[in-house]
Amino acid sequence: MNKRISLLWKISIGFFLGIIFGFAVGPVIPSSPVLSGYVMPFIELVGKIFLRLLMMLIVPLVFASLVAGAASVGDIHKLGRIGIKTLVLYFITTAVAIVIGLACGNLFQPGIGMNIPADIQATAREAKPLVDVILDIFPSNPIASMVNANMLQIIVFALFFGVACILAGERGKKIADIFESVAEVMYSVTHMVMSFAPYGVFALIATTAAKFGISILAPFAKVIAAVYIGCILHAIIVYSGMMILFCKRSPMWYFRGIREAAITAFVTRSSSGSLPVTLANVRENLGVSEGISSFVLPLGATINMDGTALYQGVCALFVAQAFNVPLTLSMQIGIVVTATLASVGTAGVPGAGLIMLTLVLTSVGLPIEGIALVAGIDVILDAARTCLNVTGDTAVCAVVAASEGDELK
Ligand code: ASP
Repeated sequence: MNKRISLLWKISIGFFLGIIFGFAVGPVIPSSPVLSGYVMPFIELVGKIFLRLLMMLIVPLVFASLVAGAASVGDIHKLGRIGIKTLVLYFITTAVAIVIGLACGNLFQPGIGMNIPADIQATAREAKPLVDVILDIFPSNPIASMVNANMLQIIVFALFFGVACILAGERGKKIADIFESVAEVMYSVTHMVMSFAPYGVFALIATTAAKFGISILAPFAKVIAAVYIGCILHAIIVYSGMMILFCKRSPMWYFRGIREAAITAFVTRSSSGSLPVTLANVRENLGVSEGISSFVLPLGATINMDGTALYQGVCALFVAQAFNVPLTLSMQIGIVVTATLASVGTAGVPGAGLIMLTLVLTSVGLPIEGIALVAGIDVILDAARTCLNVTGDTAVCAVVAASEGDELK
């Protein structure tokens, strides 16, 4: 217990020291050969290693724990019920997030009075058509899905496989037991990797803070404030409310329990990359069972993006205001619908939300060049939205677990 607390503290300390260090050394890096030639590349390397170690865990951890989880639920109807509850909660929380985003955008008016450079160029890639997004859920070759770490396809195959373990009787049970053991081993590997987290977190946030510096924040202060305050409000109102109403637990219990996952999401800017930590947090600190967490969280890391949706709401308004396009109420409703769908199709990797923003902008007739406006500060916005994405997954996971009778801690 003491060890866990101290790791949590170390991660938090690494986070704050990283921000201070990054902002402090950022401006002097160009004039210091030692900093630019040795210190910063070393710090960047440490961050990248941490990221790779997290990514290394994902495929075996998700596949093994999902097969074991689906098999341990044991009952196909129960699995279906959990699936429906999860999807409904994911959709509702995401739609609420966009409404909060739009409200913040209307309140802060981040784009009013922006001086848009005349030679602005759109830099984002085109988003995939929706039909392809749906088709991409289904694997044609599960091994290829694993090699490419395609989470939705891995989930689909693992569910088939796990359910088939139940249907196959005695032999299936043997296979499920093996995957249960693999999952346990992967949790141990997760703990090993997490002992490196304080340094990894420090390195990642220090690199970002040094690259951006405080000065970049000024012209975009309002859009950054709108996204950050929106995320904080959503977490405080929606997730706290869910804890009190459905889990009968205090928000403090919840936020303390998932803090490592939230910080990891903030610094890695990847829901998928944070998944091993998220799984460990909800199981060990909130008391969610393996059966539920191993199903709800990988799915959430892929399709549930409250932060991304909120960000898309704010950014759509920002672009409209910056380009002086009047946004009617019906256009704002259009944003809620498309941003919900776009957030589902957003991969849990850094910067994916920016690409999907093109979909939202074009679908409501806003200039796609607006992407270039946001691109410069997207890393800063990505940190907050990924943090909310991951937090949202854990909140839904806790509610589903409570409704299924899991003994929450
Ligand atoms: N980085 C986000 C995530 O991994 C996705 C996004 O860019 O919005 O959750």
